[in-house]
Amino acid sequence: MTKVTEGEISGGGQDVGKSNLDFPILAKGYVRQDSVNDFVASYSEGEFIALSGSKTEVVTLELSSKFVALDPFPYLVAYLECNASEPRPLDVLASQVNLEAIYDTCDVLEAQHLALEPAYTAVCSVSVPATRLVAVKRSPKLLPNGNLLLGSLNSYGFFTLMSKPAEYNRWSRLEELNVSVVLRDTLLPEQDISNITSFKKYQAFINRAWITMFAWLPDNSETNGHHILVLATASGSLWTLNLSADAKTILSHQEVCTSLGRICYIDAFKDLLLLGDINGLIHLYKFVPQEIPNFVLTKALWEKADRMGLQNALITECPVKNCYYITCSKASHVLTWCMPRSEEKQWLATRLYVGGMKITGLCSLGNNSFAVGSAGSHLHRIQIFHEDNQLRLQMQSIPMAVLQDFPVMGLCTSRHKNLMTMFVYRNKEFINQNVAQRKHMDIQVVKVRNEDALAQLISHLEVDKPINYHTDFLAELRLDVFVEANWQRYIDFSPLNSFTFSEPATETQLQQLQVKFHVLQSVLRLQTSLLQLTVHVKKSQDEMKLLLAMLSITHIRLRLQFIGTLSQRTTFQQQTTKCMFEESRRMMNKLKSDFSEEHPLGSTTKAFVEEIGKQLKVLHNNLGNPVIGDPLEKPLLRCSVSFVEISPSLDRRYCSICERSILFELENLQELYDLGRILTCPICHGSFAVEMLTA
Ligand SMILES: [Zn+2]
Repeated sequence: MTKVTEGEISGGGQDVGKSNLDFPILAKGYVRQDSVNDFVASYSEGEFIALSGSKTEVVTLELSSKFVALDPFPYLVAYLECNASEPRPLDVLASQVNLEAIYDTCDVLEAQHLALEPAYTAVCSVSVPATRLVAVKRSPKLLPNGNLLLGSLNSYGFFTLMSKPAEYNRWSRLEELNVSVVLRDTLLPEQDISNITSFKKYQAFINRAWITMFAWLPDNSETNGHHILVLATASGSLWTLNLSADAKTILSHQEVCTSLGRICYIDAFKDLLLLGDINGLIHLYKFVPQEIPNFVLTKALWEKADRMGLQNALITECPVKNCYYITCSKASHVLTWCMPRSEEKQWLATRLYVGGMKITGLCSLGNNSFAVGSAGSHLHRIQIFHEDNQLRLQMQSIPMAVLQDFPVMGLCTSRHKNLMTMFVYRNKEFINQNVAQRKHMDIQVVKVRNEDALAQLISHLEVDKPINYHTDFLAELRLDVFVEANWQRYIDFSPLNSFTFSEPATETQLQQLQVKFHVLQSVLRLQTSLLQLTVHVKKSQDEMKLLLAMLSITHIRLRLQFIGTLSQRTTFQQQTTKCMFEESRRMMNKLKSDFSEEHPLGSTTKAFVEEIGKQLKVLHNNLGNPVIGDPLEKPLLRCSVSFVEISPSLDRRYCSICERSILFELENLQELYDLGRILTCPICHGSFAVEMLTA
């Protein structure tokens, strides 16, 4: 441990010193947010972040590895502009009762409540406060047409569903289902309005229909392709709505009444649901889908009504200790509970004073460590120590110069915790600062661990998991390649002459070639963007040409090897076999004409063509010597998995990363693989996306 100086501990109580924590900034960007006054309620899941610090628009960020060298920011930003006058579903209820009479019978406190809470009185106010976004969260499941589904909630309890294809920059509303109206008019039992004569009764009447928070339940086998939406109301009820796959109808619903007041926080993790209300209470529920009620109270974590509603919380799972860690923030304290997964063990709890005025950002850095940012410009890493039935938190500050003028407004980490995204907001007035700048929410993407992105990508890649699951490693890799000082290292990575093709093809070799593809593609992007590097472009382009042939041939060999093991072949398998042999012949001819003996890659190409010639002959023999036609010179649109010609259609299926097209009929392509295999792009290992214009 290093010596702690006075300056370093001034922010917090138990800081163990600065040590060697270094979180270098890899990329910067900004988005517009015009309502950051209190804090930005950001929501993140895997590669996706949604912000709700704006009165006028929904802003979301999707992590991507497709950015260019001149603007290396790894997020795609998408918007939905909100209407100036969004519907207020509670007005219908308010207009049914005699508000003036209720106001006359109020005591002072109640009158104040009525006057200050716009949801109760919007119907008779002269100027109604603008709506504010309360939460924006994405459903873990896609819609049947491949689009993302997003829900948003405003301060008047109006819930909106919206969708967009991945990587588009505009959200569009789904108008079919109005959740707030269905809850108000259909799901809630009718109430006798003549009884509502006091403020308390009026409040109860409004509260039960007022949606104050929501969450989507995680995707698991029990959800059967449905989107499960949990709504929380101002009366403390939880509504579980089972939405159809297209999110147009509610298939079933269930209500659970909790002992909480107005719920202002929900976080769903596996089958756990963490709830907080505006009185400051925190309860943990467990989701039991088959039972009624489907939410069961597991533990009341915080029972003191301190009026500090929960704003940041985090649940992680520790496989070593077989427990969950639940961390919540209260002003400038963090509270951590350890929830054992086996019945015999007991719960543990601990807390830590972080310093600063208030915790504004909380994100996980691993199973038992997390980052905390506070309004007082502090950023810390906190580690959970869990030994001998004791729980303890230890804090280290993360030095970051930028935070002096820009306090943290939100923190998110990527799926593999290699990238942390910080939202910071300028806290001082500057000369020459214009209105637009005052709405800037700056974004800084920092590297969390001192580990190599390329090595991590290689070690995490799996045959059955598309590379999209590792977008954070891909994005970090590309950011690293784009640092000009590093590019030589990446040029030298895995040279093409190091691959041999004399043995039967393996999935491992295909993956190695795919990683090489990602590295070389980033190198090419850098070389074409920087004037001083353009002299190297031709060399890399030639290398790419040969690499693509190696990738396609390795894929073809793997598929032909597989088809060769089958005793009977379907029509599609026979058709594919023919197309694959034709395609390999065409590719070999092209390589021979493109790479002469004198070419720098000449000898590598020659060795490759010779080896493959031998291997293909063996495969051809094994498959009963099918007749192969002369390959057509005219390039047709071919499926990059089966090499069968694709007929033009408005619906298409394509690789979500390199955009190569494949046959729309996925069930045919599935015949080329073992049962149940998840198909990935042969070139880049990306997942396939669909575009359906009719859906
Ligand atoms: Zn691809």
